[in-house]
Amino acid sequence: MTKFKILHFKEECISCGACAAVCPDFWEMDQEGMAHLKESKKVDNHWDRIIETEDARSQNQEAVDVCPVQIIKLEPVE
Ligand code: SF4
Repeated sequence: MTKFKILHFKEECISCGACAAVCPDFWEMDQEGMAHLKESKKVDNHWDRIIETEDARSQNQEAVDVCPVQIIKLEPVE
């Protein structure tokens, strides 16, 4: 399958907790009350992580859909 990159523009997180509620395998709330994408790395103005399974894509699509400020993105990787 196509690989996907999850991007999280964490600085705009409003700490609602929705991503961690619907996708706890990938998302958690950190000590400052902000969402954190597990096993992600900071790149420029966002955090990201590559995923390689349909199950992971599906779970993270739920996080994308539920985020009220739309700061979680899924992009196909060449
Ligand atoms: S759903 Fe969006 S705003 Fe809410 S905690 Fe997750 S990243 Fe932050």
